[in-house]
Amino acid sequence: MDGLTIVSHPLVQHKLTILRDRDTSTQLFRAVVKETAQLLCYEVTRDLPTALIRVETPIAAADVPKIAGKKLVIAPILRAGLDMAEGMLDLIPSARVAHIGLYREPVTLQAVEYYFKTPDDVADRLVIIVDPMVATGHTAIAAIDRLKEAGVTDMRFVCLLASRPGAEAVRAEHPDVPIWAAGLDEQLNDHGYIIPGLGDAGDRTYGTR
Ligand code: URA
Repeated sequence: MDGLTIVSHPLVQHKLTILRDRDTSTQLFRAVVKETAQLLCYEVTRDLPTALIRVETPIAAADVPKIAGKKLVIAPILRAGLDMAEGMLDLIPSARVAHIGLYREPVTLQAVEYYFKTPDDVADRLVIIVDPMVATGHTAIAAIDRLKEAGVTDMRFVCLLASRPGAEAVRAEHPDVPIWAAGLDEQLNDHGYIIPGLGDAGDRTYGTR
């Protein structure tokens, strides 16, 4: 699918298998979500521009690369995106954070906003939206809509698992926002859960079910 990158690296695929396994404990699930988010972060930032700066090593002066260009915002969709954001912030500690509170209305499966807080200069930054699951795509589309309303023009979306219909819906609505995922499953059930998926990512992260 155009604009969708499935990260096929064996470490990512192995970790996704651990996440899918219903017998994975809450503690391990949380740890592996963070690790997988870090590996996905490495991929989603692969093309960031760099510029040479002069440093003095203990031996000599050297012109060496440093990340340049737009500053970053990590934007977790609450609550399940929080753990992924923590993982990414370990790699990019200077990034700012935008919290996007959206829940899926259980009958219509539409996204309902309850919280939205971004850095003041969010429109000038590259925003990496994180949510473990893109199921129907409604939540992802609503989050991108909201960030565009706030003036953001440069966004990337990172998830652990996408459904094909969900990813297609996001790409159709927002073709300017590329998606990175560890896996792509073909179907959803009647409750909007990805099949085979990994269950409810929020519940599995926080042990709430
Ligand atoms: N949200 C989840 O956490 N899991 C799904 O399968 C779909 C949406």
